[in-house]
Amino acid sequence: MRYQGREVDIEGRVRLVMESALTARDRVGVQDFVLLENYNSEVAFIENLRRRFGENLIYTYIGSVLVSVNPYKELEIYSKQQMERYRGVSFYEISPHIYALSDNTYRAMRTERKDQCILISGESGAGKTEASKKILLYYAVTCPTNDQMPALGERLLQSNPVLEAFGNAKTFRNDNSSRFGKYMDVQFDFRGAPVGGHILNYLLEKSRVIHQNHGERNFHIFYQLLDGGEDDLLTTLGLERNPQSYQYLVKGNCPRLSSVSDKNNWKVVMKALSVIGFTEEEVQKLLNIIASVLHLGNTQFGEGEEGETYITTETKITSLTKLLGVDGSALGEALTHKKLTAKGEEMITPLSFEQAVSARDALAKAMYGRTFTWLVEKINQSLALKEEIYHSGKGCSVIGLLDIYGFEVLQHNSFEQFCINYCNEKLQQLFIELTLRSEQEEYETEGIAWETVQYFDNKIICDLIEEKHKGIISILDEECLRPGETCDVSFLEKLEDTLGGHPHFVTHKLANGKTRRVMSREEFRLLHYAGEVNYNVNGFLDKNNDLLNRNLKEVMCQSDNQILSHCFRKEEAIDQKRPEMAATQFKNSLTKLMEILMSKEPSYVRCIKPNDAKQPGRFDEVLVRHQVKYLGLMENLRVRRAGFAYRRRFEAFLQRYKPLCPETWPNWHGRLSDGVSTLVNHLGYKAEEYKLGRSKIFIRFPKTLFNTEDALEAK
Ligand code: ADP
Ligand code: MG
Repeated sequence: MRYQGREVDIEGRVRLVMESALTARDRVGVQDFVLLENYNSEVAFIENLRRRFGENLIYTYIGSVLVSVNPYKELEIYSKQQMERYRGVSFYEISPHIYALSDNTYRAMRTERKDQCILISGESGAGKTEASKKILLYYAVTCPTNDQMPALGERLLQSNPVLEAFGNAKTFRNDNSSRFGKYMDVQFDFRGAPVGGHILNYLLEKSRVIHQNHGERNFHIFYQLLDGGEDDLLTTLGLERNPQSYQYLVKGNCPRLSSVSDKNNWKVVMKALSVIGFTEEEVQKLLNIIASVLHLGNTQFGEGEEGETYITTETKITSLTKLLGVDGSALGEALTHKKLTAKGEEMITPLSFEQAVSARDALAKAMYGRTFTWLVEKINQSLALKEEIYHSGKGCSVIGLLDIYGFEVLQHNSFEQFCINYCNEKLQQLFIELTLRSEQEEYETEGIAWETVQYFDNKIICDLIEEKHKGIISILDEECLRPGETCDVSFLEKLEDTLGGHPHFVTHKLANGKTRRVMSREEFRLLHYAGEVNYNVNGFLDKNNDLLNRNLKEVMCQSDNQILSHCFRKEEAIDQKRPEMAATQFKNSLTKLMEILMSKEPSYVRCIKPNDAKQPGRFDEVLVRHQVKYLGLMENLRVRRAGFAYRRRFEAFLQRYKPLCPETWPNWHGRLSDGVSTLVNHLGYKAEEYKLGRSKIFIRFPKTLFNTEDALEAK
């Protein structure tokens, strides 16, 4: 691709570009895709990304959307000096950076007084979590502090290592993969100082506690404890150092990571817990639970002559009894028997060997999952906005940060991938709603000439999954509740009966009654907006049911470990009503999340993974092209090219900027639209740089406005 000797800069001015600058530009590409001459070409788009990546320029804009390519190496671009460079500087005046986006969002919150959110998306390993940490760091370092909450910034930062220790794990794709979704609100006071934070967590991948795929690990905390815990501590917990001694840690056959030191991270996590305000006693109770999960995994069963199941590792039960503060014989019995109430009478029936194993695993998952939720609650208490600040009358504004699992396709996809990919469909809907559709609809209602951009609306797939009565989740719930013989395969049959023929749903059955050979009889395939995924139904019912035997709940709620007695409530053990099932719970929490995000002004960070080998310097074009496609970046660029970056209602625009023009100051007395054109003309905008709609002004690139913000603040 050739660039010409002249360059149109982002405000539309033509500049002559000197030879050296031209070659530099040839080398590094354009910093905003909007400037690509051939903006319809995917090839040009990827070439631009590749050039910049080759020069360690990992950030590029599409207007106000930040595209980021994971460098897989430390770059010297995140220092405090760099933060200073980006403070208060307009987006368009300086090279693209996550700090520019952070700063811009912050200023928009301050000047417009509107809540903001930053949505970070991309597949696993693309750099979402790192991006969210950099944003948080930027605010913690550059924002003023509030005297009533001086340590808040530090606590916000320290929440990360804690949540990562308990919620992240090494996977095939990412050595530090977040196995839960996270939405974090940061609240700012009227002076712009962070004063509070709140975290919502989504669907922790609990199945990892009991099983890991080859080459993967359990959650980091287990290995950190074994590697970093002091000798005394391990003795108290009855643990050995070698992770390979624990059944719940051996499945992936991957005890160590080359990229990080569990021992060092242990120290980091313990310090972070104390900064956030966990007491020593709480940490002890927490570790008791973590150790108990390991002991539980080593609890083995035998089968007696009459088919009865018994525990062969009584010493494990002794350790568990001590660590959990529960009644040992009650625990032993609950692991091997089931309590049922039939016709008002309680009955105890023995469990089969398999049932006992799954009861044990269910307990481990429940203990771990609920403890994770407790941890988030505790962190939230520590970050909570103080009443007196909230009620100070001056109001707070919020920046929300969403770092949630990206679209995931594994060799074997199960219930977890189904939920994760459903979540990504919802986020794509939100993106369409907030940027593509609403953008185009707005031009139409304002009567601005506009060429419609085609995009695929994935609502049809969201409906397929979540629609009442006939969506996949409803059918799954129904199958879980249906009395009698239900199993994963009967669930699949129900899906076929109800959804067969849906354009985005495929099974081995063909419409003509024949079978599709390439698909197994245990699978269904969804044609997601991002690509096709086969889901194996094995385990769907169990995971959705997420049941824990009642007598195990009873034992747990009597624990004298306060964390456990908090997590397992007495009422729950007594209550006969069954709680919502996992997929429905997830669906409801996503609906709430969408409402939260819809009420805010969004910014986007779109993360791209350059290769599957987690290596620096490698740019796999096929892999990148796929991500560019499903992140909808080309559509995004087309809408952007055609559109206007800035829009404001006439009244609001005049009100804000009237001090800048003698004819509109102190008040404009004519038609609003005339006042607005007087004002923009005075600011030096040319006719082609803006348009007046029915009620709003639209400006292509509003640089002059950004530059005047400081002057206005001073007035
Ligand atoms: P995701 O959350 O999207 O799954 P992460 O943010 O955990 O991915 O990134 C995966 C890994 O990639 C990180 O552990 C880190 O090694 C590397 N990485 C990501 N972003 C950056 C960055 N900006 N600079 C250096 N390394 C990065
Ligand atoms: Mg992550």
